[in-house]
Amino acid sequence: MIPKYRIRCVGGGETLDDISLLSCPQGHDSLLRTEYCSRKLHLAPHTGIYRYLAWLPVNAPLLPSGGPVTFTSSELSRELGLSHLSISFSGYFPEIGANLTTGSFKELEASPTMQRLKELGNSVPVIASAGNTGRAFAELSARCRRPVVIVIPEKAVHRLWTTEPAPKVFLVAVQGDYSDAIAVSNTLATVPGCVPEGGARNVARRDGMGTVMLDAAVTTGRIPDHYFQAVGSGTGAIAAWEAAMRLIRDGRYGNRFPRLHLAQNLPFTPMVSAWEARRREIVPADDMPDATENIGKVMSDVLTNRNPPYGIRGGLFDALQETDGRMYGVPNAAGAKAMRLVEETVGIDLDPAAAVATASLVQALEKDIIGPDDHILLNLTGGGYKRIREDFTLHPVPPTATITLDESRDEIVRMLEEWIAHHG
Ligand SMILES: *Cc1c(COP(=O)(O)O)cnc(C)c1O
Repeated sequence: MIPKYRIRCVGGGETLDDISLLSCPQGHDSLLRTEYCSRKLHLAPHTGIYRYLAWLPVNAPLLPSGGPVTFTSSELSRELGLSHLSISFSGYFPEIGANLTTGSFKELEASPTMQRLKELGNSVPVIASAGNTGRAFAELSARCRRPVVIVIPEKAVHRLWTTEPAPKVFLVAVQGDYSDAIAVSNTLATVPGCVPEGGARNVARRDGMGTVMLDAAVTTGRIPDHYFQAVGSGTGAIAAWEAAMRLIRDGRYGNRFPRLHLAQNLPFTPMVSAWEARRREIVPADDMPDATENIGKVMSDVLTNRNPPYGIRGGLFDALQETDGRMYGVPNAAGAKAMRLVEETVGIDLDPAAAVATASLVQALEKDIIGPDDHILLNLTGGGYKRIREDFTLHPVPPTATITLDESRDEIVRMLEEWIAHHG
């Protein structure tokens, strides 16, 4: 049988024998990328993201599944003075068919990741999250009844809810920040039966998010001129760039990359700062001074990743370079204004990150960086939380354990080993 796809190291160019790896076995500081044997995007007769099964690194769909929805809003287009504005929404808004019940595009990553782990041998993923990713994986765990381990800062526990009970979640709350949660997750991922989920290094995650660009191209018939998104790790933007590569190779959707217009939330904007200096490295003292304090000031904390896949080969720096990209710093006030604009014109309560993306589009227009007749794709990465609360009973996910930073990890590792013996 001809395999559906190969995995190639972007930095070294070689293909890998073991498709389950998260990093290059030859040691290149590079992302790995899927290469699908099917050059054309054949649509599958499934719902949600599995319509794009041809370019997802799984053999079977995980159904039912939601997906991104591409639509237009004459009111928002008129307000902004744009003649070809397409919106991709990943959240919950039944009127337009948007049915991601955890409210963000993290669900596009969680679904193919869970399916791929099942197909590759049933390892249990360990996920560190600031909230939205953990919620998406908890929901998928409930839906497909498979175990997951989630590590989050204690402050984010309230963000962990699902629309059906999730008994197979081992949730660890860490009395620290997101970086501390990552450190704990690295320890837990060494427990036999567990694997690190991988973040941006996980091809299922990126290709799942890439369905935003695929859906937009299929809906509008072409690759957009410009792509707007708010970035924390940049994984979603890398995914959009990679999806555009595949669409260009397909040949039916145009032959030019969309220009990436990516936003972070002032005053924490490390990638804006590094990119404006055209530097591949993020230099903490220059690009994110007073990080802890500034992270505390932003309206969207999902955009505050301190260690994004920016400089790595195949990462965000390369994506910006190949697409002649721009980065934007968005103040909270502009984000709040954009949030009201979308609520009034489209009727969706946005995730703060999606409001930041909208504000960057306003900024690009004010600075004449884009033209009124350009083809624009605005990726609204999350929202609809009010409607989710109205339409569903939300089940909070209780922490299995809460741990402090100075306590030994031995006890939590022992608990997880026992839990894996029962659930793994
Ligand atoms: C995570 C997240 C982002 C940022 O995505 P990255 O892939 O980390 O850059 C944007 N919007 C929402 C709603 C998110 O949850």
